Amino acid sequence: MLKNHLFTPGPTPVPPRTLLAMASPIIHHRSPEFSQILAEVKEGLKYVFQTNNDVLLFASTGTGAMEGAVANALSPGEKALVVRGGKFGERWAEICKAYGIETINLDIEWGRCVKVEKILEYLIKYNDIKAVFIQAHETSTGVKFPLKEIGEALKDRDVILVVDAISALGAIELLVDDWHLDIVVGASQKALMLPPGLSFVSISEKGWKWIERSKLPKYYFDFKKEADALKRNQPAYTSAVSLVIGLLENLRYIKKRGLKNIIEHHKRLSEATKSAIKAMGLNLFTKEGLSEAITVVEVPPGIDGKEIVRLLKEEYGIMIAGGQGRLKGKIFRISHMGYVDENDIIVVISALEAVLNKLGYHVKKGVGIKAAQDILFH
Ligand SMILES: *Cc1c(COP(=O)(O)O)cnc(C)c1O
Repeated sequence: MLKNHLFTPGPTPVPPRTLLAMASPIIHHRSPEFSQILAEVKEGLKYVFQTNNDVLLFASTGTGAMEGAVANALSPGEKALVVRGGKFGERWAEICKAYGIETINLDIEWGRCVKVEKILEYLIKYNDIKAVFIQAHETSTGVKFPLKEIGEALKDRDVILVVDAISALGAIELLVDDWHLDIVVGASQKALMLPPGLSFVSISEKGWKWIERSKLPKYYFDFKKEADALKRNQPAYTSAVSLVIGLLENLRYIKKRGLKNIIEHHKRLSEATKSAIKAMGLNLFTKEGLSEAITVVEVPPGIDGKEIVRLLKEEYGIMIAGGQGRLKGKIFRISHMGYVDENDIIVVISALEAVLNKLGYHVKKGVGIKAAQDILFH
């Protein structure tokens, strides 16, 4: 049996200690024990989000909380600006459309970054835009968007900034309060090192003003209801108890290691992976705003990108991600977020060298590994 290695941008590997914690007998979500867990989880999430506001938890994937953000922030017929720089930007637009929101799309070439001036230009052109939807890190292209600058530019305007930070939380710098991010969505299965199934939402004071007057239909993802319950360290409905217990374990670890150190760690892994890719003569797909959570690589001419993904899995048990949407077969993506260490990078680069050679793209053995080692071990 092949040993399995996950290098996908969700789900990501889960630490064994966390897996064991999640195997504990089920406790009731209304018990004092669980209430105590929720209280500690609440504080831990505030630290990860770098916010003083409570962070809501839902039993759903990230998309559920994205849908919740739209349904809670807006009213029928209102207008939203959606920054579409990849697959997940498109998702914001699709959700808005499903809820009857008029969307103005700011389309960015995939692999490139958005300029703050461009967003402001749109806000002036359409002065009734109520919310701007964006990603912290567009996982389909590996681009980080300049949230600090965007937050600063929007904070005194009659518009809220809604951020999908699903692949950014716990991997790249994200200061929710300092950067004036109004509604921020996260999920369990990325850098937070948990199985899929939990989503998170932080809401600013300004964000709550929008929620107070929102008239879109909502029931499970009613942020007000969940926030009221959370004030009493209760969930509104049955919690995903086991996942929350796993979350507590990981939040304790994050606190102990320190968010700054964890982000530095991601930077180092990212640098090493990107350096290895270049040493192998490959090009990065991401042209601007390189993310430290993931490395996105152009498939060399004449090679089918899907074969790279298939062979890595079949021969080495290594799961990386291919391209999504229009990038299918043209790129591959190596995630180094969450529970990934220096030696894991060597494993994936070593196997990649072998697979590329097998597919007819010549790489001198060890060239990529050496480039990675030079950054990881010195
Ligand atoms: C993974 C991811 C999502 C998708 O979330 P699901 O948990 O699959 O619903 C959304 N946005 C970004 C940026 C992601 O990386």
